[in-house]
Amino acid sequence: MKIGILGYGNLGRGVESAVRQNDDIELAAILTRRDPATVKPATEGVKVYSVDEVEKLKGEIDVLVICGGSATDLPKQTPEYAKYFNVIDSFDTHANIPSHFANVDKVAKDNGHVALISCGWDPGMFSLMRLYGSIALPEGNDYTFWGKGVSQGHSDAIRRVNGVKDGRQYTIPVDLALAAVRNGENPQLTTRQKHTRECFVVAEEGADLKQIEEDIKTMPNYFSDYDTTVHFISEEEMQRDHAGIPHGGFVFRTGVTGLEKEHKHVIEYSLKLDSNPEFTSSVILAFARAIHRLSGEGQVGCKTVFDIAPAYLSPLSGEELRAHML
Ligand code: NDP
Repeated sequence: MKIGILGYGNLGRGVESAVRQNDDIELAAILTRRDPATVKPATEGVKVYSVDEVEKLKGEIDVLVICGGSATDLPKQTPEYAKYFNVIDSFDTHANIPSHFANVDKVAKDNGHVALISCGWDPGMFSLMRLYGSIALPEGNDYTFWGKGVSQGHSDAIRRVNGVKDGRQYTIPVDLALAAVRNGENPQLTTRQKHTRECFVVAEEGADLKQIEEDIKTMPNYFSDYDTTVHFISEEEMQRDHAGIPHGGFVFRTGVTGLEKEHKHVIEYSLKLDSNPEFTSSVILAFARAIHRLSGEGQVGCKTVFDIAPAYLSPLSGEELRAHML
């Protein structure tokens, strides 16, 4: 199966490295909106094309992995490229998933392609775990905690504060809340009780540090509903200690069974990721394999992770899966 990568940022590079761990998948091309001569892939022999050359690649790519940003790129890119190819994206603006789905579904159907949106870990693997949890324990509660990990959106928000040169924000689950959920106590948790936010800031010379801290902590939507800590560090410390993009989190389903609802159950799925984009890319590639198979069966239209039978994700045959995985 041949894939293309559209957009060579963190996720694009992650997809490129994940191809090396999947023998049945080949990287055929990288597409970029920038001057292709300025984009240097890590894989020798892979050609970089301008998005203006997309027509040339029709028929050369089984699935195009769209690696743009969720805020403004994907709402345009995924429907646009579903005209030419089977496509997959990682769209993570949860509230807009239904409208994004409808836009992509229409174009994919009109052009005889399969698309899959909102793939990765959240949305993605966490969505599946929430679904599996709720079907196994219909009477119960869902809990999702994120972190410890870097939130790109919150880091960007810090960098926009007056006097800030660079910033990194970690989202951290509150231990007490995690323990209560694990214990099956079914706590009602406020936003503040679930997560704290820790910020590392490089300030511009002469900046008013007290004011920066105040501006961050009171920022609506991003920080004002959380207990937030702000640390001022040097540029060298930022580069040395905060260059990675780790993330992770927990999905819980707690529930009861029995005639008297006397038995408690706790399902826990957790991720600790050194690299958010590399893990996300690995998940995306498995789902790209599935949509290639669906396309081969003549299916069309938009899917989500919920629509894919697990066996379609694996490079192993049904026979091999029954022998080794059941
Ligand atoms: P990046 O900001 O690294 O890349 C986004 C795009 O920026 C690239 O596709 C690239 O397109 C463009 N770009 C412009 N200039 C540069 C440059 N100098 N270097 C690199 N890229 C450049 O975003 P990420 O790859 O980190 O994330 C993409 C999206 O993935 C996020 O918006 C997030 O919503 C989603 N995501 C989803 C997850 C999930 O679990 N579902 C998890 C993690 C992320 P071009 O080459 O065309 O210029």
